[in-house]
Amino acid sequence: MRLYNTLTKTIELFQPINPNEVKIYTCGPTVYDRAHIGNFTSYIYWDLLIRALTLSGYTPRRILNLTDVGHLASDADDGIDKLEKGAAREEKTVWEIADYYSNYFLENFHKLNLVEPTKICRATDYIEQDLALVDLLTQKGYAYETSDGIYFDTSKFKTYADFARLDLDHLRAGARVDFSSEKRNVSDFAVWKFIREGENHAMKWEYLGRFGYPGWHLECAAIIHAELGETIDIHTGGIDHIPIHHTNEIAEVEAAFDKKMANFWLHANFITIDNTKISKSLGNTYTIEHLEEKGYQPLDFKMWVLQGHFQGTRNFSFNDLSGAKNRRLAWKNRAALAFQKGIIKKTAISQAILEAVSDNLNSPLAFSLIDTNELSFNDWEFVDLVFGLELTKCIQSIPNFIPQLIKEREQARLHKDFIVADDIRAQLADNNFTVIDTVDGAFWQFLA
Ligand code: AMP
Ligand code: ZN
Repeated sequence: MRLYNTLTKTIELFQPINPNEVKIYTCGPTVYDRAHIGNFTSYIYWDLLIRALTLSGYTPRRILNLTDVGHLASDADDGIDKLEKGAAREEKTVWEIADYYSNYFLENFHKLNLVEPTKICRATDYIEQDLALVDLLTQKGYAYETSDGIYFDTSKFKTYADFARLDLDHLRAGARVDFSSEKRNVSDFAVWKFIREGENHAMKWEYLGRFGYPGWHLECAAIIHAELGETIDIHTGGIDHIPIHHTNEIAEVEAAFDKKMANFWLHANFITIDNTKISKSLGNTYTIEHLEEKGYQPLDFKMWVLQGHFQGTRNFSFNDLSGAKNRRLAWKNRAALAFQKGIIKKTAISQAILEAVSDNLNSPLAFSLIDTNELSFNDWEFVDLVFGLELTKCIQSIPNFIPQLIKEREQARLHKDFIVADDIRAQLADNNFTVIDTVDGAFWQFLA
């Protein structure tokens, strides 16, 4: 496979560290609110990555985390914890909020037919590992204590600016004039936060005789080290993660263990909706549920996402979603025709599709190959393995009476009994099917 690597800013040939197992980590959602379609966009692309790796003969070992504590509402180290914010909004406990929105996320994850990660890790299950990492960073002189937390000293980590090509001088110059924090450098960040007097923070753990909670980046660093060990093959996230979250993860892990954190970094671009950013205040934080209410299936949305490349900017509109829905239906019906006509054996097109997605996840190219070539039923089954769009399962499991009705209609037409033939067409429609007459005979098709 060839993949664009944010680390080197080039497309590189992917080679795993261990040929038998590809170690992958994906930064998961903060479970304080309903995950929206923007959030799911990147998970859909990583699903394609996992499927392409598997079909290329690799065995992915993939960890996804759920941020159920400590992700502050601003990327700076002040501001309120997102979980606390959710709890205040809904008058629930933070634990209830985390549980509810974790389940919400996972339900949608399954609706999109995304391959189950090897393990899903909740940040709150790794506090011990977090604190061991804080200890190690402190011992090695990378972390220092202030009145409100333990901070990472970015000036000690010489390559801090490299990953995101950060301009630290510019950052320094742009820092607020009233910058009164005890931080040594503007770019220093909290690895552990202490709870201040009078501050309401329900999730808390004792460290150095005070109560506190982990900084956001620390959980990923600790989970990766605990679950995947040193130097992983691929780390994925959204482009928003590059300058802060991933830059800080790298600093923590590489400073602590003196090993490269990940060989490949993949970042998915952002989608906009009607050419505006997705935001609560604009009322456009559509969820998969919203799309379902409007008559779309979750997999129609997956189809829409995969029509574009993971590095491209995408603009979502319901008009384009309808286009994706129709395209998916057309593919299902083409697969149904191949099945009924007995065009079964896999062809070279399957290999061409795999090659397209293996070339930096070029799903748009793979889609155009599908549109412009004749596929056998086994090719369509392969398309389902690559993209998880569930085009073929429904074909093999259609009720027996559907092909039976098609035969009865043929007989009726032979006997010029058009009233019966029309009645059968109506029965088919009631069951969400239709019939097409071709030179090769009549075949059933899905209506939706
Ligand atoms: P959060 O739960 O807020 O941490 O968001 C999880 C991730 O979803 C973000 O870090 C982004 O990588 C991704 N994300 C959020 N908004 C969008 C968007 N509009 N398009 C694509 N990805 C997004
Ligand atoms: Zn992360």
